[in-house]
This record gives sequence, C-alpha cells and structure tokens, in this order.
Amino acid sequence: MEIKKTVLPSEKLKPLFTDATALLFGKQFTDYMFTLDYTKEKGWHNPEIKPYSMLTLDPAALVFHYSQEVFEGQKAYKSPSGDILLFRPRENARRLNKSLERMCMPTIPEDDILAYESELLKLEKRWIPDQKGTALYMRPTVIATEAVLGVRPSSRFLFYIILSPSGPYFPEGFNPVGLWSSREISRAAEGGTGAVKAGGNYGGSLLAIQTAVDKGYSQVLWLDAKEHRYIEEAGAMNLFFVINDKLITPPLTGTILPGITRKSILEIASDLGIQTEEKMITIEELCEGIQEETVTEVFGAGTAAVVSPFGKLNVDGEEYIINNNQTGPWSKKIYDELTAIQYGEKPDPYGWVYTIT
Ligand SMILES: *Cc1c(COP(=O)(O)O)cnc(C)c1O
Repeated sequence: MEIKKTVLPSEKLKPLFTDATALLFGKQFTDYMFTLDYTKEKGWHNPEIKPYSMLTLDPAALVFHYSQEVFEGQKAYKSPSGDILLFRPRENARRLNKSLERMCMPTIPEDDILAYESELLKLEKRWIPDQKGTALYMRPTVIATEAVLGVRPSSRFLFYIILSPSGPYFPEGFNPVGLWSSREISRAAEGGTGAVKAGGNYGGSLLAIQTAVDKGYSQVLWLDAKEHRYIEEAGAMNLFFVINDKLITPPLTGTILPGITRKSILEIASDLGIQTEEKMITIEELCEGIQEETVTEVFGAGTAAVVSPFGKLNVDGEEYIINNNQTGPWSKKIYDELTAIQYGEKPDPYGWVYTIT
C-alpha cells in the first residue's frame, strides 16, 4: 500500500534534544506519527505518515470502555556507521498479531508492519540518539474506535506508531534494584490475557506497583494467580535466576508474556557456555536459595532495560539480599553481549539485526 506523507517545512520541526543521556523514558515524542485505519468494509486502509498530533475519538469509542487495545515496545538503534537498526522486528510484528487475535482485532500483514515502521524511521532518523544505551523507542498501538457501548468487538480500529527518544535505562550505572512480591494481587490468570501485550493487563497491575514503590521497592515480583507461589515475572519484564551456576527462567505457561529479550538471552547464554533451563520455581525455593547462596543472581529481561539486576527481594515482609546487592557476572556478560549485537558493535551470528535501507 502506498503511504501518504505530509512533510513539515524544516522551521516547523521540533528542536532536537541536546543531551540524549538526560532523556526520560517516554516523555518526549518526535515530529511525525504513522496511522492506518480499519473498517469492516475496507479492511486496513489509508496508511499515512503525518505530523504528530492529537487523536479525535468519540467518547463512546470501545477502547475507552472495554480496553480493546494492544501494543508493542521496540527500539531503533543507530549503528557506529550511522545505519538504523532494529532488533528482531519480525518477532514483534508476529507478537502484535497474536495480541490482536486474542483481543478479537484484525491482524496486519507482518511485511506491511515492517514497511510502515521503516518508512517512519527513515523520516525520523535525526531523532535516533547515538550514545550507547540510548535509542528511539517505538510504540505501535491498535485501538478500537467504534462508538458503541455494547460489549462486543469493534468494527473499526486505528493502528498508529509513535516514537520517543529515550536515554539510558540506568543513568547512574548498572546497579541492582529491589523487588517486592505480591501475594494478593495477580497480574495474569490461566485463560486470561497475560501472554499478550493488551493494555488492560497493565491497568490492573498498577495497585501492586504503587504498593511496591510505597514500600521502597522498584518492581513487583509477580506470582501465579492460583497458588500465589510460583514465580512468573518482574514488573513488565521476564525473570532469570542463576542457581547453582545454571541460568533458569520460568516456562511460558500461558500467563507469562513471551519476551523477545527472554528468547534471545536463552540462546546467547547457552552459546556463552552457561547451561539454561525453563523451570517453575516457587518463592519459597527462591528465598531458601538466596539464604543458602545457591541463588547468585536474579535479573529481569525486556526491551526497555535489556537486563535489570535485582539486589533485594521482599517476601511477606522479610527482606532477602541477593549477591550482596551487587550486579552479578552473568547479568553483566549477557547485557554486554546482547547490547553489542543490538547496537551493531559486534557481528550478529544469529541474523537478529534488521538494517533499514
Ligand atoms: C513487554 C513485556 C516483556 C518483555 O518483552 P520483550 O519482548 O523482551 O520486550 C515481559 N513481560 C511483560 C509483562 C511485558 O509486557
């Protein structure tokens, strides 16, 4: 499909950031956005790149009432030679379509998603910061726009992509943060939507996040919704443990979001010579392992932070200190290896890096 483009005269462009390392996550947006409409009659149509602007929606639009909404989170990096790089974008396009299917929304051909992202990024190249750790965060989103209060799938949708330049996730260095585990509030239940990126999942998690922050921890450790014992995720990240020199992560049982970082770490780690295993772990086993020092590292994995080491864990009011609250060697090694590939500093033996031409 031919993309209609409305390009601004250069004096209308927003001033670029002066210090990319000082950028806060998701607060600043670029000059343009991409939009694509869907109706039952026409299917997906009218692809357009236009100046970033407010949306005009009917207050009865289904997205506002029943959260028929899905999104993705990706980053565009600038390589040392100035190329625009994406990391496994086809995986994101595939996951967006899985999310759409789960939420009764129409899918979008993977190749089209990649073409739309590429066109927008080419126009917005000046917004991709080039310091290590910085990137241009990309947020593809689909919302239900039909104005009707019946609980049923919408017949109209809007797909849009916005871009936000982001600074390093850890401006003060790669230091561990604290986790607080919630026995009462669950993120995702069997049969629910935990395995897809649907907005409603995150609204429902805010109360636990707020509680964790009030208690001085930065992320929530999510337990399973049935027994409140099995460890699932941390914040909006997948979780890894180094236990007896083995890298362990919970299996994708349907309540865990299948992270692309998670999948990549499993491959990289085994190539770096650490044994990996997908295994369910209870919170009791974890606490015992931390005390006996068989658990030497705990870290989160996701696009935003890549790897986020955890140094403290609060379970039922008791605090456990992991690896003396220091970043462990595997967390650091995996972070270095993965980011070197993402930023195009190292050859990519996996075929994960996608260069936009
Ligand atoms: C997005 C997300 C992740 C991480 O996925 P990546 O593809 O690695 O960015 C993990 N858990 C949840 C709940 C998420 O929303």
